[in-house]
Amino acid sequence: MAPVSIRFRGSSFGSAVPNLQNRSDSSFEVIFRQFWLFITLVGTGIGVMAAKFSKCMMLCCVRKISKVEDMESYEEAIAKLSQLLSMRCDLEGVAAEKIKNLTAELEAADPEKFDPVEKIRAGFTHFKTQKYDVNPDLYGRLARGQSPKFLVFACSDSRVCPSHILNFQPGEAFVVRNIASMVPPYDKKKYSGVGAAIEYAVLHLKVENIIVIGHSCCGGIKGLMSIPEDGTTSSDFIEQWVQICDPAKNKVKTECDALTFDEQCKNCEKEAVNVSLGNLLTYPFVRESVANKKMALKGAHYDFVDGHFELWDLDFKIVPALSL
Ligand SMILES: [Zn+2]
Repeated sequence: MAPVSIRFRGSSFGSAVPNLQNRSDSSFEVIFRQFWLFITLVGTGIGVMAAKFSKCMMLCCVRKISKVEDMESYEEAIAKLSQLLSMRCDLEGVAAEKIKNLTAELEAADPEKFDPVEKIRAGFTHFKTQKYDVNPDLYGRLARGQSPKFLVFACSDSRVCPSHILNFQPGEAFVVRNIASMVPPYDKKKYSGVGAAIEYAVLHLKVENIIVIGHSCCGGIKGLMSIPEDGTTSSDFIEQWVQICDPAKNKVKTECDALTFDEQCKNCEKEAVNVSLGNLLTYPFVRESVANKKMALKGAHYDFVDGHFELWDLDFKIVPALSL
């Protein structure tokens, strides 16, 4: 069965691809576990109850395997087995053994079966034994507080984790991730989650750098560039969010008209970073910190296709409202 992707105006968000194949396989497992329970109930002499229970379980199974193409024959097979076992109690042991083997076979047939709990368990075990337990000084220090030098804006895209690509260690970067790593302008009624993070990082953590990182093949930027001229949108949140960087889109559409759509998107990935840097200056505490040279703003672009990372400063000229 081909994986189903959620498409957004021609672009695909990789992390939003559900694995229906795994879902079907886990349904097989559920069915056989339920059947095992049915056999046990027959064996303990409560046949009537078991018959009713099995019917109930069969209905549950029908719902769960709705994605299996060959559902009818599958149901028939289970019904025949159920009927046979109700008449031939002496076959229970044989049936149980065969079902057990079949379960093992089905599990082995899907070596890439994803177990989220196992993934998390293994991941934390690796971190705990390889990093936490061998760095008691670092984690002891972090237990007492944090003093990161960076506030980082990065895209939520699963391929661009800033701690991974820039080797930030725990305690080194205060990170905000959202669609297309955008910074909205100062607004106490909208986007308060972003505002709170900036306020905390600048006023309480006193970070020395804010870095906004765009990236190659950004689905959010493609979404922005795909919004039609008349501004028609079809999503609940995404398009309204990415329109924060409308000025970047307008600049690219005007200045890079001759480029292909993909090339325009690449330009927009960087221009959107500059718009975000400009928006950061609409926060009074950011402006003040930059004007006092206590903090620097940096733009960046990570290209995971070519393996490049580009970093730049913007030369802001902040004119004080009053000069004496
Ligand atoms: Zn992105």
